[in-house]
Amino acid sequence: MSTHTSDVLVIGAGLSGLVAATEACESGATVTLLDQESEANLGGQAYWSFGGLFLVDSPEQRRMGIRDSRDLAGRDWWGSAQFEDHDVRPRQWAEAYLDFASGPKREWLHGMGVRFFPIVGWAERGDGTAHGHGNSVPRFHITWGTGPGVLAPFVARAKEHIRAGRLRVHFRHRVTDLVTEAGRVTGASGTVLVDDPAARGVASSREVVGDFDLRAGAVIVTSGGIGGNHDMVRAQWPQRLGTPPARMLTGVPAYVDGSMMPIAQAAGAHILNPDRMWHYVEGIGNWDSVWPGHGIRILPGPSSLWIDAEGRRLPDPAFPGFDTMSTLRHLRRTGHDHSWFVLTQRIIEKEFALSGSEQNPDLTGKSVRQLAGRLGSGAPAPIEAFLEHGEDFVRADSVAELVAGMNAVVARESDESGADPVELDPQRVADLIAERDAQVDNPFSKDRQIQAIHAARGYLGDKIMRAVAPHRLTDPAAGPLIAVRLRVLTRKTLGGLHTDLQGRVLSSADGSVIEGLFAAGEAAGFGGGGVHGHNALEGTFLGGCLFSGKVAGRAAAG
Ligand SMILES: Cc1cc2nc3c(=O)[nH]c(=O)nc-3n(C[C@H](O)[C@H](O)[C@H](O)COP(=O)(O)OP(=O)(O)OC[C@H]3O[C@@H](n4cnc5c(N)ncnc54)[C@H](O)[C@@H]3O)c2cc1C
Repeated sequence: MSTHTSDVLVIGAGLSGLVAATEACESGATVTLLDQESEANLGGQAYWSFGGLFLVDSPEQRRMGIRDSRDLAGRDWWGSAQFEDHDVRPRQWAEAYLDFASGPKREWLHGMGVRFFPIVGWAERGDGTAHGHGNSVPRFHITWGTGPGVLAPFVARAKEHIRAGRLRVHFRHRVTDLVTEAGRVTGASGTVLVDDPAARGVASSREVVGDFDLRAGAVIVTSGGIGGNHDMVRAQWPQRLGTPPARMLTGVPAYVDGSMMPIAQAAGAHILNPDRMWHYVEGIGNWDSVWPGHGIRILPGPSSLWIDAEGRRLPDPAFPGFDTMSTLRHLRRTGHDHSWFVLTQRIIEKEFALSGSEQNPDLTGKSVRQLAGRLGSGAPAPIEAFLEHGEDFVRADSVAELVAGMNAVVARESDESGADPVELDPQRVADLIAERDAQVDNPFSKDRQIQAIHAARGYLGDKIMRAVAPHRLTDPAAGPLIAVRLRVLTRKTLGGLHTDLQGRVLSSADGSVIEGLFAAGEAAGFGGGGVHGHNALEGTFLGGCLFSGKVAGRAAAG
C-alpha cells in the first residue's frame, strides 16, 4: 500500500488539476497529484481540445476591429446563463470569471508563452435577441498549438516542481473513497491499477493490483465531468430537453467517467445543477476512433441547410453554430436521434472546422505553411479524410442522388443497430433547397439564415475564413452537393460540486464548508457548481479550469 502525507492532495491530472497543483506548489505547499490513467494521458481532456479560449477586449479582437467590453460580455453571460434563484455561488463565480477573462487572463498566459491565432472565432452567435443567449461579438481565441499549447506551460511548471521535490505524481491511482476524520477531509484511498501501455486517450485496463491510502492537509477534486459515462448522462438528463437520445456519440475519453461524484457525495459534498450539460448537436462518428464511441464535433460556419430526420428545416435560431442548447431542445422534439446538414463542396471547404487538437494538425503543430493551405482550394486534409471515410458523409451531383445516399446511411445503421429507419422524401428535400436557393440572388433576403450569413460576412474574420458568399446549393460550380448526418455528442458537464469563491466544497446537509475539501474544473461545474448557468459562450471551459484551478490551488495551500 502506498502511503505518505503532503500539504495538498489533488485528484485528477487534467488541466484544472495541473493548474491547482502548480499554484499550490508555488504557494509553498508540498503536493501529491493522482490520476487513474497513465502518464501518457497527462493533461486529460485539454490535450484533445481545440484550445479555444474566451477572452474579452483582447489585442486580437481589437486588431480585427471588434469592440468588446466587460460590460458587453457580462450582458452576454447573463443572457446565456439564465441563472435561477438557487445559483448564488455560480453568479459570484461568473462575476469573478468575467473579471479574469477581461483582465489578467491573457497577460498571465502570454507571460507563460501562450500565443493566439490572430483571427478570433465567433462561437455561439446566439438566439437572435440582444438580451438572450450568445456572443454579441467574436471571442473564441484559438491557442497557437491548440490544447497541447494551453497545457504546455503547466506541464513544464509541474516538471520543475517534481524536480524540486515539491510535487509527487502517482499515475494509475484510482480514488474510491475520501477519508474524513473529525469532520475534516484528510485524504483519499483507492486502488492501484495495473500498468497499461495504451496510447493517450485509449480506454485502459481496470485490473486492480494494489491499494493506497494517502493523507494531506487539504484535498482538491479535479476529476472532470461525466460525458464519457452515458448511463450517468442519461440518468441526469433534464426533462426540459425531452428524452435522451437512444444512441449518442462520445466526445470525451472514457476516463471522463464521473466516478468522483458519488465518492464526494458520500463525504457530504453537495452537487449543484447535475442536470445541466453541454452536449453538441453536430457530432459525427470518428472513422479513426481513439476512445469508445468516439465522435467529433463539427464547428460549423453559418451556411449549411439544417434539416431534421424527416426533412423539415430547423427553425430560427437553430442555425449552424448559433444556439447549441435550443437546437438540442428542438431536435429532441423531432422524435429522432439524428439530423442533417445539406451543403456544397464550396461550403465545406471554407466553413467546416473539426474540434480537437488531432483534427487541426496545422494549428497544433504551429505550422504556418500548413495553415496557409486553409486559404487555398480544397478542404483541409482532416475534412477530406472524413469525406472519404466518414460513415456520415454523402456526396452527389443531384438532389435525388443525395437523398438516396442519405437514406442508405440511415438504413445501414438501422440494419446494424436497430436504429430508427426513417426515410427522407427526395421531393420534400428538393423543395426545401429550391425555396432556400430562391433567396440568395440579392445582398438582402427575407430568409433569416441568409440574413445571418450576410451579417457574418460583415465581420472580416468570418469573411476570410468562415462564411462563404451565399450561393445556390444546386449551383454546379459550387458542387458537388454534400449531406452530413449529425448526432448528439456528449461533452461537457455544466453543473458539479458546489463551491464557494475559494473553491471550498459545500455540504449537502446545511451548505456549510466541508473543511479540507476543495474542487475545481469541470468537477466543480468550472466553479461554484455551474458558472455557465444553462448555456455556455464557448472557450469558457479551459478558461474555467485555469481560473478555478488557480483559485483552489492557492486556497488549499493556505
Ligand atoms: C475534443 C475536445 C475539444 C475541446 N475543445 C475545447 C475548447 O476549444 N475550449 C474549451 O474551453 N474547452 C474545450 N474542451 C473542454 C475542455 O477541454 C475540458 O472541459 C477540460 O479540459 C476539463 O478539464 P478538467 O481538468 O476539469 O478534467 P479532465 O481533463 O477530464 O481531467 C480529469 C482527470 O481526473 C481523472 N480522474 C477522474 N476520476 C478519477 C478517480 N476516481 N481517481 C483518479 N483520477 C480520476 C481522469 O482520469 C482525468 O485525467 C474540449 C474538450 C474535448 C474533449
